[in-house]
Amino acid sequence: MAAQDRNNGGIEGLFDVAVVGGGVVGCAIAREFTLAGARTILLEQGPDILSGASKANSAILHTGFDAPVGSLEQRLVAESHALYCKLHDRLNLPLLETGALLVAWSEAEEARLPEIIADAHRNGVGDVEPVTAAQARARVPALGPLARAGVVIPREYVIDPWTAPLAYLSQAVRNGAVALFRAAVESGDFDGSAWHLTTPRGTVHAAHVINAAGLHGDQLDQALLGASAFTIRPRKGQFVVFDKAAARLVDTILLPVPTTRTKGVVVCPTIFGNVLVGPTAEEQDSRTDTSVKQATLEALKAEAARLVPALAQVPVTAVYAGLRPASEEKDYRILATPARHWITVGGIRSTGLTGALGIARHVLGLYGNRHAPLPDPAWQQMPNLAEYRPRDWSSPGHGEIVCHCELVTRREIEAALLGDLPAADLAGVKRRTRAMMGRCQGFYCAARISELVDGAIDPPFAVGPAHG
Ligand SMILES: Cc1cc2nc3c(=O)[nH]c(=O)nc-3n(C[C@H](O)[C@H](O)[C@H](O)COP(=O)(O)OP(=O)(O)OC[C@H]3O[C@@H](n4cnc5c(N)ncnc54)[C@H](O)[C@@H]3O)c2cc1C
Repeated sequence: MAAQDRNNGGIEGLFDVAVVGGGVVGCAIAREFTLAGARTILLEQGPDILSGASKANSAILHTGFDAPVGSLEQRLVAESHALYCKLHDRLNLPLLETGALLVAWSEAEEARLPEIIADAHRNGVGDVEPVTAAQARARVPALGPLARAGVVIPREYVIDPWTAPLAYLSQAVRNGAVALFRAAVESGDFDGSAWHLTTPRGTVHAAHVINAAGLHGDQLDQALLGASAFTIRPRKGQFVVFDKAAARLVDTILLPVPTTRTKGVVVCPTIFGNVLVGPTAEEQDSRTDTSVKQATLEALKAEAARLVPALAQVPVTAVYAGLRPASEEKDYRILATPARHWITVGGIRSTGLTGALGIARHVLGLYGNRHAPLPDPAWQQMPNLAEYRPRDWSSPGHGEIVCHCELVTRREIEAALLGDLPAADLAGVKRRTRAMMGRCQGFYCAARISELVDGAIDPPFAVGPAHG
């Protein structure tokens, strides 16, 4: 058994539902179906959750104010926003109530603001309202001098991009779901009543399949259904993360005027106490290439300094890129094929972190009311990684501070290797604890972390003279 698997009785027998894909969408679907009483298995090809699009995003909890009016995405994002706000406390998930300020920097952009407000109101986000340049600057004193006017979106918030999906799948597992990793679905047969899915971990039998394979969703449809109604067109987004010194400059999400193609480059606080700038929107063929380009990063830094000039003085802590699973259409592609007991959840491009809970409810609705919901499901409290709430280092008995930049304790590292979904690789340890993600990026703590995770992760994380 892989380190992270939680089989709750193995993969034998017939599952009601197999969810393919452990991104945020698959994790939320596994939770929703488990709580609805379905015997559920999640199959993920990576060693951990978040091996695809969901590992790298801006972590904004969207209201859907700028989603296409009348779209499925708009409806599900709005529902999800409400669901997240309702459940985050029960799972101990952070919610940084930053609000957002959309800023116009040219006459042409300013002319678009009334239309943006009208669309927001049509989308049911009635608290969106205009502000003058002076009012915008009163909210964000560090704002660049050329801001002309703005729009305030009070309920755009910042959340934890990694602990939320971990919480969804952890709750599913705690209530009986099976999570199987390194389990790429390679092929499958439908016998008229159930699917038999071939994975490197064995054959999994399930009455229904939900394809939440993100960047590979169209390929899975093609391989198992023989056709796909859409084609994934990966859209890369590169980011620059500024040091925590930037937090005093930007305590709200700064949005640009969006174009028809992209929401544009934002300057945004993170719940970890940094400020990020990004993402770009670059079409590419590769579904896996998340490399960053120096010239693009320099352009992002210049853009950040145009919007908030003082950011030019703040050091950069990290850079990263993510891939949106966009399709040829702007809306989500959620398609049921009842005759084949199959639901595809595709094209969840740029709002999936927010939309996941609503998407999961919608998919359950398409599946139907087939089971008795769990009468009294278990809830678990997730460890807090948010800078604005008490962290483990400030409470007694934490063992030692292992990562001094992010103040990660030995107790946090040890806990990440246990629990409902233990980390199975180094990326999983980092996303569960913040270890090695601060200013030094692991320069000082890597050796100690390699000792603490020795034997628990694959591939092993070995550093120091003995390991070259
Ligand atoms: C740059 C950027 C910024 C973003 N900003 C935001 C934001 O601020 N707010 C927001 O709400 N959203 C944001 N998003 C969108 C959000 O990240 C995505 O919508 C979401 O991650 C999509 O999740 P998913 O579960 O559909 O796909 P994925 O995360 O790609 O998950 C699919 C999973 O399926 C697995 N898989 C694939 N094929 C198989 C197979 N055959 N067998 C088994 N497993 C398989 C993959 O390994 C992967 O783990 C952003 C995205 C990007 C890239």
